[in-house]
Amino acid sequence: MAAASPRPRIGVLAVQGDVREHLAALTELGAEASTVRRPAEVDAIDGLVIPGGESTVMDKLVRAFELQAPLRARIAAGMPVYGSCAGMIMLADRIADARPDQQTLGGLDITVRRNAFGRQVDSFEQDLDFAWSDPSRAGTVHAVFIRAPWVEEAGNGVEVLARVSGGPAAGRIVAVRQGNLMATSFHPEVGADRRVHAEFVEIVRSHRQQRNVREPA
Ligand code: GLN
Repeated sequence: MAAASPRPRIGVLAVQGDVREHLAALTELGAEASTVRRPAEVDAIDGLVIPGGESTVMDKLVRAFELQAPLRARIAAGMPVYGSCAGMIMLADRIADARPDQQTLGGLDITVRRNAFGRQVDSFEQDLDFAWSDPSRAGTVHAVFIRAPWVEEAGNGVEVLARVSGGPAAGRIVAVRQGNLMATSFHPEVGADRRVHAEFVEIVRSHRQQRNVREPA
């Protein structure tokens, strides 16, 4: 076996949105967490979290800070990325009701609908079944939705991890994974449950391990 691998370096896109909670969750799980605001910082990470916030504003700032091209390049090269809520919108290849001029980073073969749950149910909480990759993470997840998108359409290569469990939107897709990209409509960073972040840290760790096997240091 190789020597103990250093902690995975996971950035949190920090142009807008709830950055702090993600940094804390990642640190708790043993990652070296840092904010990403500059193009040079995109090169220095093994994985990225895109937080919730407002996708239209986030998109504008990503372009203004010249982060769009380097982030798209790393996504295309296989860097693991986890997007929560607005972060899911940023990772989607298609937006059903984009603002004129709204762009995404893309990578996930999904169509998202912004603010999909409507005004009356702007924010709500629900326990969902989640397709955990690791049996030690069994059980439902308490999902907090805040003006959340849902996945209206998912391509064949997209694995559905969770759907709304009840109410008028029952069955709607709210968590997906495609290769190294994962996204949830809900906000796992608000509670104390770290299982969703743990799934992502594992994706980052195993991606790094595979790279090290191919390109030994
Ligand atoms: N409604 C927001 C958007 O369209 C997302 C909300 C959130 O991230 N909590 O970007």
